[in-house]
Amino acid sequence: MIPFSPPKIYDEIIDEVVNTLKSGWITTGPKTKFFEQQLAAYCGNKKTLCLNSATAGLEIMLRWYGVKEGDEVIIPVYTYCATANVVLHCGAKPVFVDVDKDFNIAIEQLKGVITTNTKVIIPVDFAGYPCDYDEINALVQSDEVKNLFQPHNEVQKKIGRILVLSDAAHSLGAVSGDKKTGSLTDVTVFSFHAVKNLTTAEGGAVALNLPSPFNNEEVYDYLCVKTLHGQNKDALAKSKVGAWRYDVIEAGFKMNMTDIQASMGLVELKHYNNDTLPKRKSIFDAYTTAFQKYTWAEIPEYKTSKKETSYHLYPLRIKGITEEQRDKIIQLIFEQEVSVNVHFQPLPMLSLYKELGYSIQDFPIAYDNYAREISLPVYYGLSEKEINTVISSVVKAVNQVLNG
Ligand SMILES: *Cc1c(COP(=O)(O)O)cnc(C)c1O
Repeated sequence: MIPFSPPKIYDEIIDEVVNTLKSGWITTGPKTKFFEQQLAAYCGNKKTLCLNSATAGLEIMLRWYGVKEGDEVIIPVYTYCATANVVLHCGAKPVFVDVDKDFNIAIEQLKGVITTNTKVIIPVDFAGYPCDYDEINALVQSDEVKNLFQPHNEVQKKIGRILVLSDAAHSLGAVSGDKKTGSLTDVTVFSFHAVKNLTTAEGGAVALNLPSPFNNEEVYDYLCVKTLHGQNKDALAKSKVGAWRYDVIEAGFKMNMTDIQASMGLVELKHYNNDTLPKRKSIFDAYTTAFQKYTWAEIPEYKTSKKETSYHLYPLRIKGITEEQRDKIIQLIFEQEVSVNVHFQPLPMLSLYKELGYSIQDFPIAYDNYAREISLPVYYGLSEKEINTVISSVVKAVNQVLNG
């Protein structure tokens, strides 16, 4: 069976993890701090905080911004449930927006859903392809939209507009213009979950890039406290001579990354741009070269003169098929020992959001993208022979379904 996305664990990672295990320091410490610095240097943003997941990163930033009951947070309907659930955790209302053909949030529909209650927009870089942040940033900074904004705390007054919180769980290393994700907007959250391009088994990072008058160092220091029970010193700081006494300033959360996780991340980041991304790109290009010969294939957009994906998911669509036909094709692909996936079931198709009153009928492009989508395996160890097996299994399955 060709798996969908197994992690690549090589000796250098294992050695670095063992080194940490033997070092006497396994929770948040020097390696986490170093990983944070390396990530910020790679992405070009002002300051980065590592946490135990992307979900934690999204939620802590909503809480930092003071999002609460009565507030609205705009998200694309085509995403993983984490993007919506963090909004619900804060007591606020997720406002769903349809997506475009490129699977990303339909920017031209944003203006129509912004109200005086809107506090945050969470665009999602689906499959690793960055949203158009120039347009989203310009929209929230426009007088028309700023005039609607009603701040109800000091942080919101300081920024004076809707916060753009990018869900970049898929898009570490993606490029827009001359910038990488992490430095394209106010705050960007990455995931290092086991299936993501760079993995620490579980983990995430918050890339801070807040405009002046914010001091990103100060925000970082506060977030360290907020993600460790409101404790004003972490375990490492407390372990220094005469520094045992600490204070708790608020009922914070427990979201910190361990040095074991950071050890994995440090090694992977070192090889990310010159090895991981080119390898993933070569798989994308092989799929595109093979499938563009077929009139039934709709090739995903992943590289233009302005933007380039991080090559996380290859979302092939089959033209003119129904959801049932797509499911049949997937069944036939699996029967040829190839694992594929569907990203994502739009949120209103899942029970929780249905019960909250959302309806898939309101999001026709998301449904059409979903109904015809098949995500193909993309991972470092996928051989040329396996790529060809994936391609032939898809071609055979599609032909069988289309030709009866
Ligand atoms: C994986 C994923 C997340 C959640 O990441 P975790 O690190 O597992 O919390 C959030 N959003 C999207 C779009 C994802 O794919």
